[in-house]
Amino acid sequence: MTDRSALPLTLDDIQTAADVLRGLSDATPLVPSPYMERQFGQPFWLKLENMQPIGAFKLRGALNAMANLPEGTTGVTCCSTGNHGRGVAYAAAKKGLRAVVCMSELVPQAKVDGIRALGAEVRITGHSQDEAQAESARLVRQEGLVDIPPFDDPFVIAGQGTIGLEILQQQPEIETLLVPLSGGGLAAGVALAAKALKPSVRVVGISMDRGAAMYESLKAGHPTAVPEYASLADSLGGGIGVTNRLSFPMCRALLDDVVLVSEQEIYRAMQTLYYEDRIVAEGGSVVGIAALQAGKLTLDGPTATVITGRNPDMEVFTRIVSGQDVVLGETTVRGMPYAV
Ligand SMILES: *Cc1c(COP(=O)(O)O)cnc(C)c1O
Repeated sequence: MTDRSALPLTLDDIQTAADVLRGLSDATPLVPSPYMERQFGQPFWLKLENMQPIGAFKLRGALNAMANLPEGTTGVTCCSTGNHGRGVAYAAAKKGLRAVVCMSELVPQAKVDGIRALGAEVRITGHSQDEAQAESARLVRQEGLVDIPPFDDPFVIAGQGTIGLEILQQQPEIETLLVPLSGGGLAAGVALAAKALKPSVRVVGISMDRGAAMYESLKAGHPTAVPEYASLADSLGGGIGVTNRLSFPMCRALLDDVVLVSEQEIYRAMQTLYYEDRIVAEGGSVVGIAALQAGKLTLDGPTATVITGRNPDMEVFTRIVSGQDVVLGETTVRGMPYAV
């Protein structure tokens, strides 16, 4: 068993975050998926973070960070693959603070529009999260804004961790959690909460197979930069930061396994969730289902996966559910009609 006393955060931090979030972001439903249970032989639940006001779980971390800003903060900035920026924009608007969201050109237009609609300023810079982060750092130096990191921050991780608390309160018999994995704020927080409440819980992180920064970093034993590619799981893109302090050591200590899925597998899982459970979800949300469908995971008890967000590019989404090809940069994800 992991020695959790050596970790930078504790269950207390997550319980404190849950108190902060009460009344600001509602607990989301944990709903059964009879289809997934039939297919994979175990009771199966979907934690519907797509139902958050901004359509993704990132609201939790952003609200908790916003509740813990240094005194005198006049504005905030962040870099984002889209949903963190939405969360920060929403939380800043509630507090009447200026928000500037820095993103790379890989971020879908729908996400850019969503952030502007919440009243935040948007800066598009370069082709990677690292470039967006550099712009955010410049705003901290030159304009005195406070940076809210998308994952490597104690308040953000604790906020995301409240999902783990809720899942085990809603279904204490859960034995396995399938958690989409990018920078690892979500997986770190959920795993910490879940294992603190129930040490036997297995937590598996799932990423796309091109540009899986946390997977490569865990393999190397230190934070490692990876190339970025256009992906159906655009929310899972970007590095973990070469100076990562929290989410990397926490994922190293707390994740039981990390599994990678292909674009074709993500495509199929988006169709499945739509046709079987009637849920509109983005690619980054369905990687747990994709890993199961691809035979890359076996289940040994009641299982839940976090449906992390519902903000896909709708043109891409409608192409997928109607079985058409999707062109992503240099690659084409082959169209296929949905079949059980
Ligand atoms: C941010 C995000 C993730 C990954 O969260 P990390 O904390 O970066 O690992 C997964 N799914 C969606 C929809 C996201 O927005």
